[in-house]
Amino acid sequence: MTNREVAVEIVKRLRKKGFEALLAGGCVRDMLLRRPAKDYDVATSARPKDVMKSFRRTLKVGVKFGVVIVLVKGRKVEVTTFRTDSDYVNGRHPAHVKFVGAEADASRRDFTINGMFYDPVKKKVIDYVDGRADLKRRLIRTIGNPEERFREDYLRMLRAVRFSTQLGFAIERRTKSAIRSNAKNITKISGERKRMELEGILVSPNRCRGVSFFIECGLAEVIFPGLSSEDMKSAVRVLEQLRKKVSFPLGLAGFFSSSPTKLALENCHVLKLSRNETRHVKYLLVNRGALLDEEMSLGRLKMMLGEPYFRDMYELQRAIQKAAGGDSRAVLSPLIKLHKRIRALGDVDLRPKALLNGREMIRLGAVPSPALGQLAEETYIAQLEGILQTKSQAKQWVLKWLEEHRRIEKEQP
Ligand code: ATP
Ligand code: MG
Repeated sequence: MTNREVAVEIVKRLRKKGFEALLAGGCVRDMLLRRPAKDYDVATSARPKDVMKSFRRTLKVGVKFGVVIVLVKGRKVEVTTFRTDSDYVNGRHPAHVKFVGAEADASRRDFTINGMFYDPVKKKVIDYVDGRADLKRRLIRTIGNPEERFREDYLRMLRAVRFSTQLGFAIERRTKSAIRSNAKNITKISGERKRMELEGILVSPNRCRGVSFFIECGLAEVIFPGLSSEDMKSAVRVLEQLRKKVSFPLGLAGFFSSSPTKLALENCHVLKLSRNETRHVKYLLVNRGALLDEEMSLGRLKMMLGEPYFRDMYELQRAIQKAAGGDSRAVLSPLIKLHKRIRALGDVDLRPKALLNGREMIRLGAVPSPALGQLAEETYIAQLEGILQTKSQAKQWVLKWLEEHRRIEKEQP
């Protein structure tokens, strides 16, 4: 069963029990646009406790807000009781919700195109907010007064930019001007929520348009303080050159590609990325330019090739070069040469086991310290370059390295 079939089953079951139930929100919009929906949400007059009684497997996720997840055949569907949200606290969360009818539920939703229902039995769209007209006009427009709707939840400003990016829709004039005048309030929104929307913008093939507006309307400078608008704008040209499908860290690195690394990484912190994502973005930003070094040693090249981020690093550099010089072969030539070098390597083992491990180096006289890390790396690079092929060669090398370093230390005053 598909997600949609499961959601329709849930609608039918709720109706059999005497409740009203409809497909709602994003899935209705996507159905009318003939694009695949990410998830299917059900809206119903049944209260959370009734929903939980009607299905064998449910998860309580936000009963207070009327949300229950129903599990059927391994699929999860969000079932939400028709509600209005009132008394927003600090432009973030509703303090109370009131359970209401479908029409009032439609009007608490963010944009007209997201405010429609679909009756899968009668195969009828139920549209209290004129969503269909805006779908035709390809417009993102808040339901009701945009100033008020953003004041209730400032995240909606970023959602507007995300939907406009993903769907290629324009933002309606009043909605747009309310985003401009409220951009400074985006600070009230948590890093996690901002991250979700920014991710949607940056991984979209249409990211340039979204990011340009994100900068122009003032949201970018509030979310990422200290970044110069010239740097951000020049990064848009890099984003334009990236391939269609990118990971979030690659998109972010593209966004920061014209800004100083330290500032960029401080700003990433705000988004509460996972440890792996942070490492990924950091690697891409710190190593900007490294691939242009035509004198790069074989060992270094193999080290980089063995990194999980190598492909993204290559892609980012390619985009940076193209943004700088169009298709001229001169700007791409270092990368073309690198590509040839990599091809010539054939099927070599990029990450062979190190000839010596740290413990063995300590046994040879190395002291556990940051210098040991440097010794291990240099030894490994020498191994990748083919200078060291046997364990005993590696031992001799380490002994020589240690002797050399002791001499330098002594000579230093
Ligand atoms: P996507 O395809 O990205 O999932 P979506 O429209 O389904 O888009 P969701 O975040 O899944 O968006 O939310 C589902 C529905 O809930 C929306 O279509 C909208 O009607 C409503 N909604 C979500 N977030 C908000 C919000 N911050 N304010 C008002 N309504 C919202
Ligand atoms: Mg959704």
